[in-house]
Amino acid sequence: MRNDNNLLYNMYQKSGISKSVLDYARQVCNSLEERFRTIDETAEYNQLKVMQAFQENRVSAEHMNGSTGYGYNDDGRDTLERVYAHIFRCEDALVRSQITCGTHALTLALSSILRPGDELFSPVGKPYDTLEGIIGIHGKKEPGSLREFGITYAQADLKEDSSLDYEAIKNALNDRTKLVTIQRSKGYAMRKTLSVKQIGELITFIKKHAPHVICMVDNCYGEFVDTIEPAEVGADLVVGSLIKNLGGGIAPMGGYLAGRKDLIELAANRLTAPGLGKEVGASLGTNPSFYQGLFFAPTVVASALKSAIFAAHLYEGLGFTTSPGATEERHDIIQAVALGSPERIIAFCEGIQAGSPVDSYVAPEPYAMPGYHSDVIMAAGNFIQGSSIELSADAPIEPPYSVYFQGGLTWQHGKFGILMSLQRMVDKKLVDLP
Ligand SMILES: *Cc1c(COP(=O)(O)O)cnc(C)c1O
Repeated sequence: MRNDNNLLYNMYQKSGISKSVLDYARQVCNSLEERFRTIDETAEYNQLKVMQAFQENRVSAEHMNGSTGYGYNDDGRDTLERVYAHIFRCEDALVRSQITCGTHALTLALSSILRPGDELFSPVGKPYDTLEGIIGIHGKKEPGSLREFGITYAQADLKEDSSLDYEAIKNALNDRTKLVTIQRSKGYAMRKTLSVKQIGELITFIKKHAPHVICMVDNCYGEFVDTIEPAEVGADLVVGSLIKNLGGGIAPMGGYLAGRKDLIELAANRLTAPGLGKEVGASLGTNPSFYQGLFFAPTVVASALKSAIFAAHLYEGLGFTTSPGATEERHDIIQAVALGSPERIIAFCEGIQAGSPVDSYVAPEPYAMPGYHSDVIMAAGNFIQGSSIELSADAPIEPPYSVYFQGGLTWQHGKFGILMSLQRMVDKKLVDLP
């Protein structure tokens, strides 16, 4: 290190990080330089992608102004949607503050495309938890679910090793299959995250056997991890949340859909009303934060990735199992660490919370949450409520006692939060340093 090391150590020690934890962390960091360089190169590529989209669409000072009321002629909003379409290499996009979250964005896509009698198909196993009620899986009687509208659902499970079961996929496709939903990230399941390349192979296979189907990708947590996005490998529609990767930690809310023009029109007609479509929807004051968040997103995603890789190495070095493994290639920003005991999970989450910029003085505790079989603990000291591009962690209190964490708006903060998590475990004598 070029700067005075003591100065930095003193600063960390003021925050309660001990010299032994710092020495161990330094050793880990030294081994990551090559890996970090690759991440920085991806960020550099994606920053240029964003810059070209801004410049070619002539983003201007006026675009930072918002609209009120109906939101007619909101040039800032409309140009932002063209910028998204450019970045995703597709025809059109819908990027709105009225889309409340990722689940809402996915619901819009599903409910605007599917009609009674159609079938929705997931070739990658069970979709993200929040979609179960929307689809009406397991006969769940969620009022307004797709099932209630006579839309059926089929799924092909992944094989034991997380690979795609192409035989089962081929067999499941039928005349009623209208829409295929492909979740890129593992979310909070035990399977592996799909690379964009794998998604491309899957879409090619599906279109070969059922050329008429529409392929949608749930892109949550995957944006800007790679240099290509799913529409470039054949996805008809790509969907995600703005309080994850693409909002760059700046967007205060929102979701996006990007893809084929006819599908974006259907979704817009569902979000507002048939015939009104994209023409209405006041942006109020959100345009600057949506633009600025997108501008920051490539480097914020890089910070989140570095934080995840650092944590994987740090905890693997202490004998814990991580997913993805420390040296594995990454396709999203989520990191799981199997800590093996409730005490360690709690200490980990306390450390993340204590290392947060907001609410650092509160102690997270496990509690019963709807939809979970066991108590859940969550740590998040966020600027934006529930934002998971900010450093955050959560864990169900059940075997194998894994904690899932993601985010880190800056690498320096991500590192600090993770060091706090380890320090907390060391203080409670729950781990031994090597
Ligand atoms: C987060 C997430 C969602 C849902 O997004 P919310 O904004 O939490 O509603 C859907 N799918 C995946 C894979 C996610 O990670």
